[in-house]
Amino acid sequence: MGTTTTTTGNRQAFFNGLSQNLDNLRQQGLYKPERVIASRQGAEVTCDDGRQLINLCANNYLGLSGDEAMVQASIKATEQYGYGLSSVRFICGTQTVHKQLERALSDFLGTEDTILYAAAFDANGGVFEPLFDENDAIISDALNHASIIDGIRLCKAARLRYAHNDMADLETQLQTAAGKRHRVIVTDGVFSMDGTIAQLDKICALADKYDALVMIDECHASGFMGATGRGTHEHHNVLGRIDIITGTLGKALGGAMGGFTAARKEVIDTLRQKSRPYLFSNTLAPSIAGASLAVLQRLSSSTELRDRLHANTAHFRREVAALGFTIKPGTHPVVPVMLFDAPVAQKFAARLYDLGVLVTGFFYPVVPMGQARVRVQLSAAHTTEQLNTALAAFAQAGRELGLIK
Ligand SMILES: *Cc1c(COP(=O)(O)O)cnc(C)c1O
Repeated sequence: MGTTTTTTGNRQAFFNGLSQNLDNLRQQGLYKPERVIASRQGAEVTCDDGRQLINLCANNYLGLSGDEAMVQASIKATEQYGYGLSSVRFICGTQTVHKQLERALSDFLGTEDTILYAAAFDANGGVFEPLFDENDAIISDALNHASIIDGIRLCKAARLRYAHNDMADLETQLQTAAGKRHRVIVTDGVFSMDGTIAQLDKICALADKYDALVMIDECHASGFMGATGRGTHEHHNVLGRIDIITGTLGKALGGAMGGFTAARKEVIDTLRQKSRPYLFSNTLAPSIAGASLAVLQRLSSSTELRDRLHANTAHFRREVAALGFTIKPGTHPVVPVMLFDAPVAQKFAARLYDLGVLVTGFFYPVVPMGQARVRVQLSAAHTTEQLNTALAAFAQAGRELGLIK
């Protein structure tokens, strides 16, 4: 067998078609290159070209991704429980550390029970089909995460969309779904492109009025939203009124990977019996389960990281606006610095890279046409000095490109 594949005819046309599509993406400026980091993730990273950069684009909200205590907690769990399970949970893949983490997540989120997944993408992919069928209606915010959209597609329930964050339209959709057996409202707790916080107080009131369930995806909230970091439901004072919570261990809660669904016992039991990404995919590695457990213990004993994150966010939001940049108003550590024009956003991000700041430009189709931006994400790990250095680079690049005076 040779190492090169020669192909002819229609098979060759398949590969040519892919190459053509990739070339089109490059020509349209939509091809996504990947920066290669040669260090741990953190407030500063070293790229493979040797450049050291202040990192403003990780979901490392609490600064735990490269944290030494996390590394040690994962090593300790590996030593105790081994490298992996080589099994799904129900065959021979459940260890005490997985049960402890599920218990700790339930306590943290204020639910009866929790089920772990390999990713939040799987949690969302596997939550709808076991719980709802053609007699039911799923009412979903138009800007919900791709994994929610895919999960809903796998389910036979009627699909209704409400305009993003539009409570009047949500009410209209609830009325449309009045004849269904069950209605469930689904929303991201926080929308990651704008840092918009879902209006859970109003959503819960509408759910009560129309006898609907509420599900939230807390990927950009768990660990730091609300007074003790429990999430958007704590932020909006609706703890105990959310029926289903999905979230990730891959952002604020440590940053490795893994996801979960938290809810009442009968919901979680049903998912353990029927949710396909749980039944047919390997157990979360014990190193991740053990380190995630350490995160929850740390967050339960102190709000220090959460407080530092919010102080950093307030500082950056205030100072970048004072420089003359347009930001989307809000309080979330996602800070969209609006540049509107896609090539400008790319040039600005490239210049910041030269100046030692890592940010990514976002443009259509990731955000609406004419809404190009760099999305800054603050971390508890940033020092005020690092943020001020980054702000000086924003000022310089902004003046050079004529974006600010
Ligand atoms: C990141 C994200 C996910 C996916 O999380 P993973 O654990 O990385 O699969 C799902 N939903 C939302 C809203 C997210 O931001």
